[in-house]
Amino acid sequence: MRAQATNAIVFHEHGDAEVLKWERLELPPPGRGEVQLRHSAIGVNFIDIYDRSGLYPRALPEIPGREAAGVVVALGAGVRGFKLGQRVAYVLGAAGAYCEQRNIPARHLVKLPAAISDEQAAALMLKGLTAEYLLRRTYRVRPGAQVLIHAAAGGVGSLLTQWARALGAKVMGIVGSEAKLEVAKRQGCHQVLLAGRDDIVESVRRFTRGKMAEVVYDSVGKDTFKESLDCLRPRGMMVSFGNASGPPPAIAPLELARRGSLFLTRPSLFDYIAQRDELEAAARAMFALVRARKLRVHVGQRYALADAAQAHRDLEMRRTVGATVLVPGSAASRA
Ligand code: NDP
Repeated sequence: MRAQATNAIVFHEHGDAEVLKWERLELPPPGRGEVQLRHSAIGVNFIDIYDRSGLYPRALPEIPGREAAGVVVALGAGVRGFKLGQRVAYVLGAAGAYCEQRNIPARHLVKLPAAISDEQAAALMLKGLTAEYLLRRTYRVRPGAQVLIHAAAGGVGSLLTQWARALGAKVMGIVGSEAKLEVAKRQGCHQVLLAGRDDIVESVRRFTRGKMAEVVYDSVGKDTFKESLDCLRPRGMMVSFGNASGPPPAIAPLELARRGSLFLTRPSLFDYIAQRDELEAAARAMFALVRARKLRVHVGQRYALADAAQAHRDLEMRRTVGATVLVPGSAASRA
């Protein structure tokens, strides 16, 4: 097999969305243990923005993107368990997904059940597996648990909300605009609060009849961190898992004691799927929920792969709802 050409989004410097360039690259044949994939759908995530902006510095040049779905078009030496034409998907700790075709170690791939479309998979691998570990392993949400979820109409937030409901939780969601109130409600929030309009702490107090939340899932970071702590009951769990508004401030351990022996964690998906059996078990649980119609994948926006910069701008400007997907070889624009 000879090297061939593929198109990709590349950035050569950190910066705003303008640094994302559409380039033609040479793709070598797959190496030992690798398969070559032709992407059919690529997930866009806030982490792609951290990579691009330099909040999470990358070695340059870099192709952004951590999750995608596609079909196997070539097998490297020593690959077992995959065949040509097979539909697969992945989420990776390393970037490189915003391209038409790529090589990837087979150990990162999961086979797609017939019931899961490529687009659903591209919207689920990073965001859905994040919901899985946050709700089942970072903090074990049990029936009746009173949970607070930030950005509840977003990519991760939509799935977190639905999955929390599937576990029997009582869910309060927070959104940033009137238009997103209804979206978050549809995902299953019992109550939706509007940031900037509602008194979040008092609303949580009323909803929980004074007990406060037992766990807060905060992906917004800088703007909401302190208030999230105020929403917790003694011995509650603060899950700070993102920086959409910037990284949260430093906090002294004594501050956690003062607020009632709180727990604080700053988890990352990649530490929860580092082992192959963890990845497979989490993906199985996620696909089963989709098949059972307890988890609906809401793709709110689609863009042609070449339009990735516009997808980044919309995500950064809080203009998106649900998941955002890039489609290679299409003229797709906003859904
Ligand atoms: P979202 O679709 O949730 O988009 C981010 C949302 O955050 C916005 O739509 C907006 O919702 C809200 N937001 C609040 N303040 C700001 C701000 N100043 N700028 C931009 N957005 C803001 O993105 P993703 O689903 O891709 O990711 C959600 C979060 O989860 C991110 O913080 C990401 O880093 C984190 N994450 C963490 C993982 C982990 O393992 N630690 C794994 C995956 C994601 P609204 O308008 O309703 O306020």
